[in-house]
Amino acid sequence: MYLVPERAIAELISARDCFTAVEQVFASMARRSAYNFPVIREAIGHRDALYGFKSGFDRDSLALGLKSGGYWPHNHERGLINHQSTIFLFDADTGKCKAVVGANLITALRTAAAAAVSVAHLARKDARTLGIVGAGHQAGFQLRAVLEQRPFGKVVAWNRTPDKLAALEKIAVDRGLEFQAVSLEELGAQSDVIVTITSSFAPVLENAVVKDGTHVVCMGTDTKGKQEVSADLVARAATFTDEVAQAVTIGECQHALALGAKTEAEIIEIGAVINGTHPGRTSEREVTLFDGTGVGLQDLAVAEVVLRSAIEKGAATEVEM
Ligand code: NAD
Repeated sequence: MYLVPERAIAELISARDCFTAVEQVFASMARRSAYNFPVIREAIGHRDALYGFKSGFDRDSLALGLKSGGYWPHNHERGLINHQSTIFLFDADTGKCKAVVGANLITALRTAAAAAVSVAHLARKDARTLGIVGAGHQAGFQLRAVLEQRPFGKVVAWNRTPDKLAALEKIAVDRGLEFQAVSLEELGAQSDVIVTITSSFAPVLENAVVKDGTHVVCMGTDTKGKQEVSADLVARAATFTDEVAQAVTIGECQHALALGAKTEAEIIEIGAVINGTHPGRTSEREVTLFDGTGVGLQDLAVAEVVLRSAIEKGAATEVEM
């Protein structure tokens, strides 16, 4: 069995490899070759922590395993990040555990790759201005990955506490792009692609501010009750997701469904667009929306690439079970 430590991950995988791994597993899910098992997430009654498992199996790539971990809100007092997780990969032929892989960076990279895959397949080809709503830990990863998908010339951003936007500004300016901190109204008026990546429990982005033709990428809502955009925006948009079962329960779609403004049958798996069985965007004026809920198979797909790279580069330690 191999151990791949958290500190080694950054050198073991590129954004391009993450994109390909996530795109392929979304395609497998839509072909019904890969499926996610029911998610477990529990408040454990200790240090206010949320702990759980995300797992699944991809018959095409033979990725089998789970990501375990969660959210420890007081970790900063110990100099640790609040989200902590670890991936366990198993040999699909024998059931033996084949690797334990640090999953904190992988979580950020696979989440950014999902947004990037949606932009690659759904945004207008002439998209030039990218809007980011939120400026927490995930936002920079989202910005870097999405910028690769279109020849963007400008980034506009909004955060509840505007001082946090400096980190996003640096990423944009380092790439020679124009950057502007804006109001949400201005962000909607300018953006061709909007990524929302907040922990909000009430709509931040309203339907009225989003112009026709925009691709909206909702990445923050991954729990029952969270909400980033108004339900009428979800109702207006052609809506895509990583997994319909999660979109309607813990994703952005949960609210539009509860109001009867969208039906489950109207929500399309992004894998169908990747596989060419759904056309994706059907007009330049259509608003498209990707509800990225985050599935275990994304973690496993990226961890498999990391493991191969770690073995090749001598960064994995082999231990006897
Ligand atoms: P973070 O705590 O570092 O940042 C949170 C961000 O949300 C900040 O910009 C904050 O200002 C903003 N925010 C919080 N409450 C808000 C409110 N009421 N209105 C407006 N803005 C608000 O978190 P992060 O690590 O950047 O993660 C952001 C979100 O993404 C979290 O909700 C997290 O659970 C989710 N997430 C989703 C996936 C996925 O696969 N979909 C993966 C990882 C994280």
